[in-house]
Formats: sequence, structure tokens, C-alpha cells
Amino acid sequence: MDGVLNVIDGREVPARSGATLPNWEPATGDPLGTLPDSDAADVADAVEAARRAFSAWSTTPAPVRSRLLRKVADGLRQALPELARAESVDSGKPLSVATEVDIPRAILNFEFFADAATQFSSECHPMDGHALNYTLRHPLGVVGTISPWNLPLYLLTWKVAPALAVGNTVVAKPSEVTPVTAHWLGRIALEAGLPPGVLNIVHGLGPKVGDALSRHPEVKAISFTGSTRTGAEIARTAGPLFKKLSLEMGGKNPVVIFADADVDAAVATTVRSSFANQGQICLCGPRIFVERSVYPRVRDALVERTRALKLGDPLLPETDQGALVSRAHLDKVLSYLALAREEGGRFLTGGRQARVSGRCQNGWFVEPTLVEGLGPECRTNQEEIFGPVASLIPFDSEEEVLRGANEVRYGLAASVWTRDLVRAHRFAATLQSGIVWVNTWMLRDLRTPFGGMKDSGVGREGGQEALRFFTEPQNVCIHLQGG
Ligand code: NAD
Repeated sequence: MDGVLNVIDGREVPARSGATLPNWEPATGDPLGTLPDSDAADVADAVEAARRAFSAWSTTPAPVRSRLLRKVADGLRQALPELARAESVDSGKPLSVATEVDIPRAILNFEFFADAATQFSSECHPMDGHALNYTLRHPLGVVGTISPWNLPLYLLTWKVAPALAVGNTVVAKPSEVTPVTAHWLGRIALEAGLPPGVLNIVHGLGPKVGDALSRHPEVKAISFTGSTRTGAEIARTAGPLFKKLSLEMGGKNPVVIFADADVDAAVATTVRSSFANQGQICLCGPRIFVERSVYPRVRDALVERTRALKLGDPLLPETDQGALVSRAHLDKVLSYLALAREEGGRFLTGGRQARVSGRCQNGWFVEPTLVEGLGPECRTNQEEIFGPVASLIPFDSEEEVLRGANEVRYGLAASVWTRDLVRAHRFAATLQSGIVWVNTWMLRDLRTPFGGMKDSGVGREGGQEALRFFTEPQNVCIHLQGG
């Protein structure tokens, strides 16, 4: 695909100012192309196009909207190999991950919410025969989505599809770090027949484009996924303007392995939950608590499997570990490796920047790293690193590990490994975590509420939660007796 452009009112356009930003290939450190360095003027154009499109789109019958969303899914499926390659090159993730996870899930997001468009219903509350309440759920109008770089198309479509399904028009702001597949989506949506202005995509920097979107008076809601710091900024901007806000933010998720677990299964999955996408998934579990009696066995098996991961060119089929997404992110992760060392951590494997020969010799790679010897209170175990770094922490009792797992500002996801059914239920319910997996990780049913507690999130995405977020409920009460 040629250079990345905005999609506004059904047309691919540069920023009004003509300014561009560079985009980079993480695996090589080379320039990849440019994207529009848009600003408030471009956001205003996009919001105006979305405002004009709203009346027709919101009154389009749900089955017709549903068919159009399915056509977008079909368009994405036809372009799957090219999209996967583009996502891998743009983000540094292994091509296999983009092919098996990112793009299939983006397709599924559109298919799922295409179905949901025709299944969405609302409540009726009869009052003992003398009155009837029913709830209408109106689309909000123009909504804004702001998404991160770690699962670029996957998380963008997770917001855009439900917003469109219930009749909103959208201005989407993808991450400036990984803009390429968003451009494809804009083009594919137009080819699928989505009317001009229904889905607009404005590229550029957060403090310019994201901020302008968050403060635009015509934008009725912001659905954000990204860091807790940016979420707080958006809340400061959009909160006083009384926009609806959904904030999916950072995490520091615990993995808890009890001695009675299927240790082999726990170890195999914990390698994935530590290092999938180089640890750059909000659901990854970088704090691995292991009951002391099985600690040596789990540690040694984790080290062995981690050492066996193949780090290298993301485009090679055998690669498990690709590059980190940007030079800035590489520096951040390396600074946390230095911190772990200062805090007294011992590296069991990894702990350094990795060098890959050939095409990727200047790429931004970090060895998958396991560290031990750090208590739950250390900064290494408290702050989000969002890279291939996981810390092993032994524990002696359920009370102790519950405290350790919960004593962190975040509360997004947790994995618990045990064969004790009673303990599994008891422990899951007391974890301060929006999502708890027992004897698995990242097993997703798109109907379930998705999101975090504490500083990990406000609101939930997924299924009915998303459809409700993107609609305004209105109660109508009819008195059934007399005039
Ligand atoms: P980020 O907060 O830096 O950026 C996210 C988006 O916000 C980008 O599009 C960015 O341009 C935009 N932005 C930045 N400043 C803004 C501002 N002032 N106003 C409006 N928009 C602004 O996050 P990131 O580095 O792209 O992504 C990594 C973070 O995302 C991690 O913290 C990770 O945990 C989190 N994340 C959370 C989830 C979840 O579901 N909870 C999922 C994926 C990633």
C-alpha cells in the first residue's frame, strides 16, 4: 500500500497542513513511510463528516447495517495475508502472530458485532398491570475511538465495530506508532459500501489528534485503550464536558501457580502469557507467583522453555519473538532491566538487548527475560513494563499470595492454576481483577465483559457492555389506567 492517509468523508486525504510524521519498521530500525501529522482542523473535518452522516446511518435498518459490517469483515478476510504482513512489518510482531491472532480477531470483531446489531434488545419493566416501562437505546451520535499500538487493528476494530453496529458514526484515532492497517481498514470499509462519513480515520499524535477529539463538543463519547497516564489525561479533558468515557488502561497482571496445579500445562501457558507479542499485550502476566514446594520445578521448566524461544526476523515462520515496537519503548524496557538489577533481581535468562544478524541487525529486540529475587513491593513488580520481562515470586500460603497479587494499582487480568475447585472459586472471587482465568490464559468469548478494575479501567467492553456503552438509554413509562 502507498503512504498512510486519513479517511475523511469517504476520501483518502493528507493532513490539511500537509505535514507528515515518520513511521519506522521496528525489526530493522529503518524508515517505513509516513503518516499524516493531523491536527484539530482535520479532526473538525472528520467530526463534521460524521455528523452529516449520522442521520442516515442511525436510521438505516439494523439488518442493513449488519450486512455492511459483514462486508467489511469479508474485505478484511480477503486481504488477510497482506494485512498480516503489514501489521508484522509495522509493529515488529511475528508474522505468525499477526496471521493467527491479530487479523482473524479483527475479522471476528466485525462479524460478531454484525450479528449483535440484529440481536440487540432492551428491557421492559411492567408495574403490576398499572404501568409499563420500556427502555429505548438510542445511538449517541458521533463517537471517538483512540487505540494503542500493541494490537493495532484488533483493538481498533473492537471499538469501531460495536459503535457502528448500533448506529453511531465514528472518528477513529489509531496509534501513530502503528498506523498502516488502520489505513487499510478505511479503504476496505469504503469498498464494502460503508457510506462516506460513517467511519473516519484521523492519524497523528495523541496530544494533537487524540486531544482535539476528546475536547470536540460534537463528540458524544470516547472509547480509549492505552496507558493509564493517557487515560487520566483524557478523563481530565472529556470528563467536565460530560462525554461518555470507556477507559481500558494498563496492567501488571498476576499469574498464580499453586502446588496442586497441572504444572506442565501451567508452565507451557505461562511462557505464552509472559512473552506473547514480546510481552506487549495488556493481558500478559509479568508477575508469576509460584507455591514454594513446586517453585524449583516451575522455575527450571520456565527457564528451559524461555531459552528455547526463537528470537529473530518477525517475517520468518519459525520466529516466536519479534522486535519491540519502537526505539522509545526499547529504551523504556532496557531501563527496567537496569532497575531490576539495581533492586537486587537475578536474571535466570535474558536481561539484555538482543542482536539479530542480517536484515534485522539494527532492530529493537530484547531477550525474553525471567528474573527472581524481587518481592511483590519492588518497582519492577509494581510498574507496567509492557515488554518481555517476567518476575518469579515464591509464596507459602493462599493469604500471602492473595495479598501479593492484589497489592498493585492495576487490576486487569489474572491467571490461577490449581486443581482444587473450591479454592479456584474462592480465590477468583477475591482477586481484584476484571478478568480471571483458571487453568488457562487469554481464552476469550466476545460476549463476556472485558476490562479492568482500579487503575486498569473504567467501564467494560465486549458483547452487551459495548452496545450499551455506545447507546443512550431512555426510559418510557406508560400509565395503563385511566386518561
Ligand atoms: P498510550 O497511552 O501512549 O497511547 C494510546 C493512544 O492514546 C494512542 O493512539 C495515542 O496517540 C493516544 N494519546 C496519547 N496522548 C493522548 C492525549 N493527550 N489525548 C488523547 N489521546 C492521546 O498507550 P500505548 O503506548 O499506545 O499503548 C500501551 C498501553 O496500552 C499499555 O499501558 C497497555 O497496558 C495499554 N493497553 C491496555 C489494554 C486494555 O484493554 N486494558 C489493551 C491494550 C493496551
